[in-house]
Amino acid sequence: MKVKFIGTGSMQSKSCNCSVMVDNILFDVGNGVVRQLDISNIDLSSIDYLVITHFHGDHFLDIPNLLYSRLFRGINKKFTIIGPVGLRQKTIDLLNFCYGDGTNKFNTMEEKFNVTFVELNPDAELLINEKPLKAYKLQHANNVEELGYVYDNKIAYLVDTTICDNYNEICKNTEYVISDVTDLETSVMHVGLNDYVKIAETYPNNKFYATHRNIYSTENVKNVYFPSDNYEINI
Ligand SMILES: [Zn+2]
Ligand SMILES: [Zn+2]
Repeated sequence: MKVKFIGTGSMQSKSCNCSVMVDNILFDVGNGVVRQLDISNIDLSSIDYLVITHFHGDHFLDIPNLLYSRLFRGINKKFTIIGPVGLRQKTIDLLNFCYGDGTNKFNTMEEKFNVTFVELNPDAELLINEKPLKAYKLQHANNVEELGYVYDNKIAYLVDTTICDNYNEICKNTEYVISDVTDLETSVMHVGLNDYVKIAETYPNNKFYATHRNIYSTENVKNVYFPSDNYEINI
């Protein structure tokens, strides 16, 4: 699998908002991510699936840009957007806010954009590219449904979250962990580097990548990777 870190920043950082592409799957599309995909020379037609973690702007605000960029560039192959319950209506609301004309024209957006929506409850599992994608409930802001994902039993995308039971379990059992490490200290909304380093020490056979990062020094941290925008690995 090819894993490309499109964006690795938090809202405070000057890097692009956090987003990762794994083969033909894009995880999160916050504001600025579509522009970053262009800068990275990634053809939008190479993305068949978009997976959303939660409905904060830095994770899903570019859905209208992605749909319209596909349309205007003549990309009409089937596209699937996966995310928490409420995803389809959130997308209609966003499209109406950005491009609405007072009619219900986006109620038929599936046809217009050749897109399908899959809304997942925690613990749901589906097959993508004949490999399992599992959704896990994580813990972020109050009243925000936050899903973390494990793809192919091998790579985890855990953004945004604080440390919780599912988080610990996934870190223990997944070879490649890509996690929210927003700041130095863990908060009620985010994982901190201090705790992430300890988790990486506990499970030395797994590889830990810190993303959604504020600006902080990573000097002397040896067991966690700090990818920059556009960094790519093959696993
Ligand atoms: Zn968030
Ligand atoms: Zn965020």
